[in-house]
Amino acid sequence: MPRISYVNGRYVRHHDAAVHIEDRGYQFADAVYEVIAIVDSRMLDEEFHLTRLERSLREIRMGMPFTREIFRLRVAELLRRNRLRKGSLYLQVSRGVAPRDHRLPPSARPSVVMTLRPMRPPSRAMLEAGIAVVTCPDIRWKRPDIKSVALLPNILARDAAVRGGAYEAWQVDGDGMVTEGSSTNAWIVTRDGALVTHPPDTAILNGVTRLVILELAAERDLTVEERPFSVSEALDAAEAFITSTTSFVLPVTVIDGNRIGDGKPGPVTCALVERYAKHAEMLSR
Ligand code: PMP
Repeated sequence: MPRISYVNGRYVRHHDAAVHIEDRGYQFADAVYEVIAIVDSRMLDEEFHLTRLERSLREIRMGMPFTREIFRLRVAELLRRNRLRKGSLYLQVSRGVAPRDHRLPPSARPSVVMTLRPMRPPSRAMLEAGIAVVTCPDIRWKRPDIKSVALLPNILARDAAVRGGAYEAWQVDGDGMVTEGSSTNAWIVTRDGALVTHPPDTAILNGVTRLVILELAAERDLTVEERPFSVSEALDAAEAFITSTTSFVLPVTVIDGNRIGDGKPGPVTCALVERYAKHAEMLSR
């Protein structure tokens, strides 16, 4: 069965799915996106994702290209055509096709593309060992809270991680504070058991998984501090982990070659891994 993608109202073979070379997403990264987990043919945490998409679009002076109801119908149709019940949905909205000009075009029609792919939660082995991260300077623009497709700094950060034998890079601002990963949010658990993560200001993307973890932490009466933490505080932490739609909750056991805590995923992290897996209904592996 051919893989089908969505391009501007049409369902086309993935191989043939394309937008014009003068699409502003292609030329200027004038586009925003979402990655949404699909569980049992429905979008996980749909409201959080669509609220964030609306916000990203508003911040770049665009509106939603369709209502939530129409969006839901199109996603359902895409799932049906791909016979997929579980996976991840990539949705990108660009300002559309227009002759190349830095000025915003007066009347471009937004380009909307959607692709689906299977997604597997992190393996048991990864959850049991935890992952390594390396730190690197945060060289991004000052609005990473907008989920823009301009991800070159993130890609270079991830490459630095891969080259250093690590899974993720933690980006560090000019004050030595960890902002977030290249495609994940960063967390530590202090020796007093408090969860610490960067506040959702303009310096980070407010991850949907981050928001869910904050809700799950509140349910468990965990102490949460939304404040920046430094690299040295992270090195001294009892536990650390990352969160994202595709990484779920992943324990961090090594930072820049240094073991965190006793070098094994800690109890608070493991409890959140289990609780989040239940939330995502992906316990059956
Ligand atoms: N930060 C960045 C920079 C990201 O790219 C992502 C994932 N797109 C996240 C955090 C995590 O966000 P979410 O939990 O919504 O996947």
